[in-house]
Amino acid sequence: MLIIDVITIFPEMFKDITSYGVIRQAFAKKLCELNVYNLRDFSRDKHKKVDDRPYGGGPGMVMMVQPIYDAVMFIKSKNEGKISSLKNQKTILLSPRGEKLTQATLKYISTLENIILICGRYEGVDERVVELLVDIELSIGDYVLTGGEIPAMVVIDGVIRLLPGVVGKSESLEHESFENGLLDYPQYTRPCVFKGLKVPDVLLSGDHAKIEKWRKEKSLELTRKRREDLFDKKS
Ligand code: SAM
Repeated sequence: MLIIDVITIFPEMFKDITSYGVIRQAFAKKLCELNVYNLRDFSRDKHKKVDDRPYGGGPGMVMMVQPIYDAVMFIKSKNEGKISSLKNQKTILLSPRGEKLTQATLKYISTLENIILICGRYEGVDERVVELLVDIELSIGDYVLTGGEIPAMVVIDGVIRLLPGVVGKSESLEHESFENGLLDYPQYTRPCVFKGLKVPDVLLSGDHAKIEKWRKEKSLELTRKRREDLFDKKS
């Protein structure tokens, strides 16, 4: 069971993410739990303020350390006794400055018992959040979004499908892009011919060894063409 705790100023954004497809099934099977906390509930300010101007000047606002600190402490004490080891509890800050999210990182996260995801907003969070609380800073790519909520959802979606028992046939994970350091091979389903484009003959041959070989070749070809970085690592 993976317990996912999210700290955000927009909890409503998460209300639908457990309602669809494989992710919905994972929650129905109780393979994971999602708790979303409104950061403003941890503000000690009478107006529920969670941001302030940056020291040293500059544009925008910065998320204050105190509400985030109190939220993380609250979540950690709530989870005491629910997890077997503190090693399996990680606090993750979504940040464009973080390490870039990969399938390997998602796999690692899927082995944990509790993740606490902190969603930044404005100009980001006070650096002391990182110093005091954060185990991993994660970026979902080299671009800047308005907040950490969508990146947190990316982590949640990517990690839940890796939890044992979520995706039916373990095979459907095995052949996926990045699983073996390569991109996935092309897939086809009915009809056999569409607008003059025919499914490759080998896939209709019933010869499983040949099909396997064709898929491996296509995987390599696509990876070489589109992702030289992955291809170089592989060869
Ligand atoms: N001033 C920050 C910078 O340049 O690094 C950007 C802050 S951004 C407008 C607000 C929040 O969105 C960040 O604190 C982070 O939580 C989230 N965010 C934006 N882009 C992201 C990305 N590529 N990966 C992960 N989180 C991101």
